[in-house]
Amino acid sequence: MKACIILAAGEGRRTGVRKQFAQICGKPLYMYSLLKAVKLFEEVVLVLPEDMLTKVSVPKGVKKVAGGKERQDSVLNGILETEAEVVVIHDSARPLATEEMFKEVANLGKFEGKIVAVPSRDTVKEVSSDTVLKTIDRSHIWFAQTPQAFRRKTLLECHFRARNEGFYGTDDASLLERYGYKVGIVPGSYWNVKITYKEDLSMLDRLLCENIP
Ligand code: C5P
Repeated sequence: MKACIILAAGEGRRTGVRKQFAQICGKPLYMYSLLKAVKLFEEVVLVLPEDMLTKVSVPKGVKKVAGGKERQDSVLNGILETEAEVVVIHDSARPLATEEMFKEVANLGKFEGKIVAVPSRDTVKEVSSDTVLKTIDRSHIWFAQTPQAFRRKTLLECHFRARNEGFYGTDDASLLERYGYKVGIVPGSYWNVKITYKEDLSMLDRLLCENIP
């Protein structure tokens, strides 16, 4: 069985707003990912801030669970809510992830984990303060996105090990890499943007709601 965990428990420290609840074309942001997950997976877990658990309504069958202080803590709470063999982790802050991405990433094959990612199309510089130190060979540089999928047993093991060591990664794949597991790549899309700042919300609103010629 495959389960999908949608993360929507961020406090919006950088934006000052909990962007996952922002209304975009009459739907809260988290709903864009949740509706795709419900269509594709047998089990769906929505991770929310504790105070929103009773306020947020979800489609039938979706489990709600309280998140933690950091993203990684929220993921662990989500994983503990399901017994599925494969778990797909997705940031609600990426509402434009496609159904194909979810399906392809969840098909693990020989890998313990798989991630959606895109190759760098910009030139990448290493910088110190306001000065360029050098240009990085971009041919091996990819930008990680979500969804990311994992065998639950392996992901849980890595989360517990990381917790014991006090290690926090910025995504889940970094935990598998740390403990020597192989992670595969599914080519994603530059449109699968992460809504981080307030202006990203206005951009998304214009993209989805206004028919720009
Ligand atoms: O903060 P950041 O933009 O990296 O968050 C990525 C995703 O993780 C967002 O969808 C956010 O709601 C979620 N998150 C969470 N619990 C936290 C922090 C972030 O579910 N404690």
